[in-house]
Amino acid sequence: MPGREALDIMKVAEAQPVRDAKPSLMGMTRDDLADALRSIGIEERQVRMRVAQLWHWIYLRGVPSFERMTNVSKDLRAVLAERFVIGRPEIVAEQVSVDGTRKWLLRFPPRGAGRPVEVETVYIPEEGRGTLCVSSQVGCTLTCSFCHTGTQKLVRNLTKEEIVAQIVVARERLGDFPHMSAEPGAIVPREGRFVSNIVMMGMGEPLYNFDAVRDALLVASDGEGLSLSKRRITLSTSGVVPLIPRAGAEIGTMLAISLHAVRDDLRDELVPLNRKYPIAALMEACRAYPGLSNARRITFEYVMLKGVNDSPADARELVRLLRGIPAKINLIPFNPWPGSAYACSDWDTIETFAEVVNRAGYASPIRTPRGRDILAACGQLKSASERLKVRERLALEAMIGGADED
Ligand code: SAH
Ligand code: SF4
Repeated sequence: MPGREALDIMKVAEAQPVRDAKPSLMGMTRDDLADALRSIGIEERQVRMRVAQLWHWIYLRGVPSFERMTNVSKDLRAVLAERFVIGRPEIVAEQVSVDGTRKWLLRFPPRGAGRPVEVETVYIPEEGRGTLCVSSQVGCTLTCSFCHTGTQKLVRNLTKEEIVAQIVVARERLGDFPHMSAEPGAIVPREGRFVSNIVMMGMGEPLYNFDAVRDALLVASDGEGLSLSKRRITLSTSGVVPLIPRAGAEIGTMLAISLHAVRDDLRDELVPLNRKYPIAALMEACRAYPGLSNARRITFEYVMLKGVNDSPADARELVRLLRGIPAKINLIPFNPWPGSAYACSDWDTIETFAEVVNRAGYASPIRTPRGRDILAACGQLKSASERLKVRERLALEAMIGGADED
């Protein structure tokens, strides 16, 4: 909508139920669902079939209540409704950018003695696909010096339910589920969906919440449910080397590495985890990542910091470092945030850097900022939050587009 200045901020919290005391089936794996069914006395010989039914309704059809599960007997629907919910988080706010980027502020109930937490999930529509940027933690234990999340303490890990719920809410709000279409019986084909790609590039380090992220991504990639192919899911890590082989073996999605520097002394500063797992060890883990080929490459994220990591010599070293690894390079213009010690490289510098990388045979897309008007960008969300009462930062877009070109 050209010329539209005002933000489309919708308060939808009132419409959403706050968490019921009943356990939620959202985010459950097939094994979890089987246990839940056993706990209400479903006979063992029926468990498999009932799991398949629930799976279909919760993840493929995306229904929010048991009433809609028309092939489940009325009696069982009543028991299920009495004992469980299909939880949705509270949507505190939904913002739509003039470029179509959407940002949701989701509130999840307290766990144990904790407080409710809020996370942001961002949707970026592009030609022929739409990418959802999902968070894995509230805050982060790591302290990358250019990242705003790095200034926030880890509040807690998100659960598998909360990770899957970010995807379900986005699909629901975008009208991606078949029960929301004009022909409620129709199964929406994969290509017809708004959310076609997922990037774990929101708040937090996904590999430090390994089990929940693994389970959630296996639910998301299940072909009988949310049906996002693993090739269209990208897990981004700052380089938790010992867990990269497990990510390959147990999750099997695409991998993105937040590299950002080509020398250990500089990377130690930008990504302090490098002191524990230096560049050589990280590269070795990348080389060993299963299933790599020209069609299945690792994305290396590289944030462009003025006068810090953006020289042509850095670009040449980057190319040398990645030799032999099927790789894509994602150049991310730095998103400044109040109090950050860095500036974004000049456009010419970024282009010169990209040229060196291109000449070496790598496509090196430079991410164009999206959703600026709703502050859906790295490192900006905290300041946004202060003004818009959006408390947590989620991640963004800049690096998203090139994470998976499929
Ligand atoms: N913790 C994971 C995933 C979340 S961060 C990781 O570090 O990979 C997602 C991406 O955003 C990372 O590549 C991160 O380095 C980058 N990023 C963080 N803050 C940024 C900023 N202010 N500007 C540009 N990119 C940023
Ligand atoms: Fe954490 Fe990633 Fe930010 Fe580093 S870049 S502080 S790992 S969220």
